[in-house]
Amino acid sequence: MIAVEVKNLVKHYGKVQAIRGISFSIDSSEIFGLIGPNGAGKTTALRIISTLLTLTDGSINVMGFDLEKKPEEVRKIMSYLPEDAGAYKNLTGKGYLEFIANFFNPKTVRNMVAKGVQIADLGERINDKVDTYSKGMKRRLLVGRALMTDPRLAILDEPTSGLDVNNAQEVRNIIKSTAKKGTTVLLSSHNMLEVEYMCDRIALIDEGLIVEKGKPVDLMKKYNAKNIEEVFMKVVKK
Ligand code: ATP
Repeated sequence: MIAVEVKNLVKHYGKVQAIRGISFSIDSSEIFGLIGPNGAGKTTALRIISTLLTLTDGSINVMGFDLEKKPEEVRKIMSYLPEDAGAYKNLTGKGYLEFIANFFNPKTVRNMVAKGVQIADLGERINDKVDTYSKGMKRRLLVGRALMTDPRLAILDEPTSGLDVNNAQEVRNIIKSTAKKGTTVLLSSHNMLEVEYMCDRIALIDEGLIVEKGKPVDLMKKYNAKNIEEVFMKVVKK
């Protein structure tokens, strides 16, 4: 089943043509990665699919809902992890998760928070204020916040940015197991090893266009490359 269908998506910010007509679809439970150089349009695409930005042209369907006509339905089934998000600094980590969980079904708050605490995995520090956290700890908390709701679609903008090797690996495993349980994942990353390890399929974006897409292993074959980094270097214009 197709979970997300993006057709001829265009986004202009004034004169800047950030996205110039991209199309892709994501199957249910798939992990789909957007990769591309700085300024390629990855965050813009993720923010549009998250309903935070309006599109200039094209259409997007998420789990059967037309995004422009039914944004509120899309918001109910989707979680978005922004690239650099601030959490509410005066709350404790747990207080922050409770605050967010209360926007959902009041009956599920306890379970949701327990899940968020487990994913964030901050030990006793979950009871400390967020403004005492390191960058990586904040990121873990926000990953917990994004995945504790069991979203049907998780949109994760550079989920492991700022994390050390162990934390990054753990977050990757959490994302993989979340997808195994049925969540569809759309993520962006600059880490080529990460996309190779995690993503079922990837799309390479450059200057607002998809220049290549497919399974990492197929792309490596096509470009006779040892890894996705080599594919990237061959495909993306200097
Ligand atoms: P990075 O890897 O650096 O995070 P990205 O692929 O996520 O980059 P975007 O942030 O989507 O890229 O930016 C795409 C283009 O749109 C860039 O040229 C950027 O300067 C431009 N852009 C992004 N946000 C705005 C904005 N609010 N107003 C004007 N231009 C913008």
